[in-house]
Amino acid sequence: MALKMKAAIVEEFGKPLALRELDIPSPGAGQILVKTEACGVCHTDLHAAHGDWPVKPTLPFIPGHEAIGLVAAVGSGVTIVMEGDRVGVPWLYPACGHCEYCLTAWETVCPEAQFGGYTKNGGFAEYLLADPNYVAHIPAGLAAVEAAPLICAGITTYKGIKETEAKPGEWIAISGCGGLGHLAIQYAKAMGLLVCAIDIDDGKLAHAKHVGADLVINAKAGDPAAAVKKETGGGAHGVVITAPSLIAFKQGVGITRKRGTCVLVELPPGEFPVPLFDVVANCITIRGSFVGTRQDMADALAFATAGKVKADVELQPLSAINQIFNRLEHGDVASRVVLDFTRAQAKNQ
Ligand code: NAD
Ligand code: ZN
Ligand code: ZN
Repeated sequence: MALKMKAAIVEEFGKPLALRELDIPSPGAGQILVKTEACGVCHTDLHAAHGDWPVKPTLPFIPGHEAIGLVAAVGSGVTIVMEGDRVGVPWLYPACGHCEYCLTAWETVCPEAQFGGYTKNGGFAEYLLADPNYVAHIPAGLAAVEAAPLICAGITTYKGIKETEAKPGEWIAISGCGGLGHLAIQYAKAMGLLVCAIDIDDGKLAHAKHVGADLVINAKAGDPAAAVKKETGGGAHGVVITAPSLIAFKQGVGITRKRGTCVLVELPPGEFPVPLFDVVANCITIRGSFVGTRQDMADALAFATAGKVKADVELQPLSAINQIFNRLEHGDVASRVVLDFTRAQAKNQ
């Protein structure tokens, strides 16, 4: 009889996840089986469970794309990782490896790319299958629960900051100081930027200051453009919008300095109108950014091993997933909730 694992499953969009026992999958040729130690809960998991985006996952599926675990078994032909290695199972895997984007290290936009916890079952489960060519290699000394948020929130914000092309000494504005934002602030500081953090929650802003923001602005009081322009002497050279809100998009363009770049990483459902005159007359670039490459992953993890970036995590068991989703939806998570599978296993023994 196949051994069983606990998993949280989206069976219907917009409904609570079902906690079920499933057979532990076995790795086919070229695959690995990972025993989950930790998995971060990203706002994207909420969008996935709600079916928010034009391309929806096929039901039922297991979300989770910030999984860290130990390789428990390898399929035939696998040589890159070995049993016992600690790996991260990310959002992006696999890509085709031979299209014009893969060839130029833009595998993030490969037309054949698959997504962990979306088109493939993810880390809200005690075990998951992964592709050894696309897993993150977790450096020794980085705890699984601290590494988990870096696998999506970390790499996405590190890449997003680079995509603004802001230079050391210049201003970057980070809109949204949650799971992604609290890491974005730290990456930006480590990259020598001056950081203006924007949120609608004073608690998040206090935390933003604590993790290094030079300036904090509450957008609830109104459009933050005037305040940012005044404090930064003309607007932020780079802007990264992580706030899952269409208003934040519009405000992000407004706080971008002339010739600056506003990078969009948040993914709320819908569209937003672009203030054409402002964008054209101020020569502003609006750019989308989607996670990052495997090299970005290695770089993003290196900041953490060097002690320059540290995820702020709240540990919870898998069984709490529906309460966590509810809190995330209402802005009631301080930074990142990470599902801690090792604690649950210790309790079960
Ligand atoms: P989160 O819920 O942890 O954080 C969101 C933060 O935005 C909260 O602090 C909230 O208070 C703040 N916020 C909400 N409305 C705001 C507004 N109008 N102005 C300023 N701040 C506001 O979410 P997260 O896990 O950080 O994810 C953020 C978004 O990024 C989601 O839409 C997610 O899908 C997306 N995302 C994109 C990528 C990518 O590759 N592009 C990767 C990961 C996540
Ligand atoms: Zn490709
Ligand atoms: Zn994510």
